[in-house]
Amino acid sequence: MHFPWPFQDWHRELVRQPFPEEWLPFVTDRMWQFSLLNADEAERLRGDLRIFMAEKNWEGALGFDVTDEVKVTISARASMLTVAFPKHDYFPNVQTIIVYPAAYTAPGASVYGSVVSSEPEARLGEAHGDGPIILSWSDIIADSEHRGHGQNLALHEFAHKLDFRDGDANGVPFLRDRKEVDEWAAVMSAEYADFVEHVAHSRKSIIRAYGAENPAEFFAVCTECFFEKPKELRAQKPELYKTLLDYYGIDWAERLLQVNPSHL
Ligand SMILES: [Zn+2]
Repeated sequence: MHFPWPFQDWHRELVRQPFPEEWLPFVTDRMWQFSLLNADEAERLRGDLRIFMAEKNWEGALGFDVTDEVKVTISARASMLTVAFPKHDYFPNVQTIIVYPAAYTAPGASVYGSVVSSEPEARLGEAHGDGPIILSWSDIIADSEHRGHGQNLALHEFAHKLDFRDGDANGVPFLRDRKEVDEWAAVMSAEYADFVEHVAHSRKSIIRAYGAENPAEFFAVCTECFFEKPKELRAQKPELYKTLLDYYGIDWAERLLQVNPSHL
């Protein structure tokens, strides 16, 4: 086996062990993108998710039982975001993942800059800058069962964590160099301004209106769209799509076309 990035010994040992067969459906049946990965990417995803799953603290809220099924399903989503990164470190700013059985209510308003939540009252999920990721299990399952709706709660919250990596929830994740930062700023600022205007006029968009809240939410909902509705996003927002493609590294729209060329 070839390891293109530095592994700690225990990571190497963990990945060497056969992937538990009973876990596979939680990856293949719940994340359609998995079937579009090439063999190397699929192998990396299986390895990454095992390391992620083993490294994090998992807590169930309201008595929810965090089984291997729950851990594998969530770890697979986190690992899908980073599967094509040249190198990554398994979300070091995520120590704990708290899972609720369903949507929950949390006191206090969300504080932009340190906490971002998907909904202010009945919440589906949250990502705290230095704290946990909180997720509603029933909504993660709903995302799997309603592929067409273009939403993905787990990808949304973990995208916030990528955004937090450079210290701010500002819609700019940790980028490789100055050139990438400049390109990102130029494209995303213009797209965000355009989108806010669009939403203000109640026009429909492939991107969820919630993205107009602030640049951090814009990045998170665009990430959902990039993974869940890539062909539509590429057709309607080619520059935005290209910027996310440069960052995430897999051309999902192109992969879908390769599988079914008639679906233009
Ligand atoms: Zn959010």
